[in-house]
Amino acid sequence: MKFEDVGIFFDRDGTINAEVDFLSDPDELELLPGVAEAIREANELGLKVFVITNQSGIARGFLSEHDLEKVHKKLRALLSVRGARIDKIYYCPHHPEFGKQPYNVACDCRKPNTGMLKAAARTFGVDLLKSFVVGDRFVDMKAGENAGCTTVLVLTGYGEAEREECLLNARVDYVAKNAGEAWRFIRNTVNQGKNFVGDIPKGMKGIES
Ligand SMILES: [Zn+2]
Repeated sequence: MKFEDVGIFFDRDGTINAEVDFLSDPDELELLPGVAEAIREANELGLKVFVITNQSGIARGFLSEHDLEKVHKKLRALLSVRGARIDKIYYCPHHPEFGKQPYNVACDCRKPNTGMLKAAARTFGVDLLKSFVVGDRFVDMKAGENAGCTTVLVLTGYGEAEREECLLNARVDYVAKNAGEAWRFIRNTVNQGKNFVGDIPKGMKGIES
């Protein structure tokens, strides 16, 4: 497949599902519009699709890893009925200050660290320099920047609130209204063979910027 070494790393809350603080109940999981279609099209084009999510609610004791597995099972089911598939969901259960062992550690997976991206690169053979991070928060943009990925900020979730901080203090390659628009940017970029960060022309930063 042409794009098998290209990954899309989606943040979870506020990017592919509606933002809920420390979501622990599968019934609270709601896919945002356009997400399933975007992921299905990415599957069809042969890109690898990942979710990378900070879940410090586990360290803080708000939910267990078992609870999280149930949420992710629901996420896969909601996508599956619409023909979409995630290759792997990576989550960081840690927090450097809060919570109890073994979760209260300064890890290398909590975004903006790049542990989850690097794990996917090793396991699935994706080239991070050709890959994309899509998220609504500063830590997503910073993780993508730290890993050498192309970064796409979506304005769902916290995106509008964190937009200024992102544009000032991280490298944001594109701003999209939502995940569907982020996908159209990614599709156009890879179809033109411009899947490296340096290839994206300046001034092509998406809506009104
Ligand atoms: Zn971690």
